[in-house]
Amino acid sequence: MPVHATIAGVNYIGRFAPSPTGPLHAGSLVAALASYLDARAHRGRWLLRIEDIDEARTVPGAAEDIIDTLAAFGMHADGEVVWQSRRKPLYEAAFDQLGSQVYPCGCSRKEIADSRVALAADGAAVYPGTCRHGLAPDRQPRAWRLRVPDATDPAATIRFTDRWQGLVEENLATATGDFVLKRADGFWAYQIAVVVDDADQGVTDVVRGADLLESTARQIWLQQLLQLPTPRYLHVPVVTNAVGEKLSKQTGAKPLDRQKPLEELLAAARQLGLVLDGQPESLQAFWQAAVAAWARRFGSD
Ligand code: GLU
Repeated sequence: MPVHATIAGVNYIGRFAPSPTGPLHAGSLVAALASYLDARAHRGRWLLRIEDIDEARTVPGAAEDIIDTLAAFGMHADGEVVWQSRRKPLYEAAFDQLGSQVYPCGCSRKEIADSRVALAADGAAVYPGTCRHGLAPDRQPRAWRLRVPDATDPAATIRFTDRWQGLVEENLATATGDFVLKRADGFWAYQIAVVVDDADQGVTDVVRGADLLESTARQIWLQQLLQLPTPRYLHVPVVTNAVGEKLSKQTGAKPLDRQKPLEELLAAARQLGLVLDGQPESLQAFWQAAVAAWARRFGSD
């Protein structure tokens, strides 16, 4: 059974964890809003963590821009903002703890794609296990992977109940195979950083976009191996553009208009299907109505 971390007097800790690859847009605002409302509806804490671990994708100034936009919209973190790029020793310690569950892999992305065992839910190739039993003599280690159980082992199937999506079930072996914790470029992978940080920050509730739904099983597997608590999860539907692509900088999402916080927040609340009492005409009225609407739908205890 999942154990929920608590700190004195606080039994809900949520977070928003943006990657600073550009300014917030309508899609990322929906995730920020949902996590904020859930924390407020539960009278919990809401933390802000800058996921700048993928330094190759980090855009200088983007994190500060995100923090300023959230503040302009009335979303202030409880406590200091945490930066993943400053927490590498924590990821290293967790990695060391995994011992022989982790192994070096010499395969290039192309070799894995060419092996065509199957495609994972995110479009990446399922790892065929080439380096599982040791590197071939002519191979140099590139990335480090975490073993997952064989497909027929009951431990390979991760099940959890998502507060929005309902029961989710994923077989780690057929969905992704052994996955990367330390990348070929030397950076820590998102999966290990997010698991270590959520536990370290005592996060009880992860509220984020459904594009991360299929990462959750890998994160729960890591939590189990590291003997960390599993938080509750709520994945909100992803906002798409007119041709059905997830809104992102790559698909042409525009930055939010910081001069129009109320309009932007009302649009995000509509995306979440929230039915607000009345028509809020100030930010303060919006927050009051939105927290109440969220609490009616997703509970407040
Ligand atoms: N940093 C991730 C993103 O911006 C979110 C991670 C998470 O919420 O777990 O997509």
